[in-house]
Amino acid sequence: MNAARARRHGREEAGDPGRRIALVTGGGRGIGSAVAVALAGDGYDIWLNYRRDHEAAARTAERVKEAGGDCRLLPFDVTDPEGARARLEPLMEGETPYALVNNAGLARDALMVWMSLEEWRDVLAVNLDGFFHVTKLLLRPMLGRRKGRIVNIASTSGQMGLPGQVNYAAAKAGLIGATRTLAREVAGRNLLVNAVAPGFIETEMTGDLPMEAVLPMIPAGRLGRPEEVAEAVRFLCSDAASYITGQVISVNGGVYM
Ligand code: NDP
Repeated sequence: MNAARARRHGREEAGDPGRRIALVTGGGRGIGSAVAVALAGDGYDIWLNYRRDHEAAARTAERVKEAGGDCRLLPFDVTDPEGARARLEPLMEGETPYALVNNAGLARDALMVWMSLEEWRDVLAVNLDGFFHVTKLLLRPMLGRRKGRIVNIASTSGQMGLPGQVNYAAAKAGLIGATRTLAREVAGRNLLVNAVAPGFIETEMTGDLPMEAVLPMIPAGRLGRPEEVAEAVRFLCSDAASYITGQVISVNGGVYM
């Protein structure tokens, strides 16, 4: 029996139904992919959402299986509530995820003087509306279960602001406000809601950043790895984090303290 199955078995013996599902949005690559694999290692089965990169999602699904979890691929755009509903509702007739990780995100950087309305709207649509659409679909059943976790992936940008990211910082700061508010609304039902705020992490999103400008901002002197963010999410989704809600956990190498 591998470690993930052993954990699940232990929960079954302790009277927990054992089979826990985590829905990870934007899980095809980058941080979401690392989160899916980490949660699978903790005994979760994964519902893996992504938008259109089927190959990356299939590779993540393989890694989830190697880590001991089942993986169901759910391509939909989080900005499209009807598309999300069409994918999720049939599944939710049978099962309710224990954990939801709102990770799908998009950056379209430009100084505000140059930023187009489209760049503003696209970034808010994915990072903020996406949280609303997906969470709204799961919230009622998760509340009915009276136990669960929601983790929203915010950003250092939403905590301190970064030039060129008026759209992204607004969306992520909004997500932090939504996290705290929802945490207050649902804590009585034992549904715990937190945010993880990564700093500069090595993914496609940061691939084009000028490192000579970025590295001096990071006290740790390097970018973070997706797996280092995933560890914080894994903790928040574990039984060990049973009294933590409404918090923002920064994983940023000291960029913002
Ligand atoms: P990537 O760009 O590497 O991956 C983004 C993932 O999100 C992909 O799987 C992509 O799917 C999916 N996605 C994008 N738009 C949508 C959409 N509309 N609907 C569904 N899925 C979508 O991003 P990162 O891994 O770097 O970022 C993950 C999260 O972490 C984001 O919320 C980001 O804002 C946040 N973050 C990242 C930081 C970093 O330094 N990388 C720093 C701080 C926060 P597909 O490939 O199919 O298009």
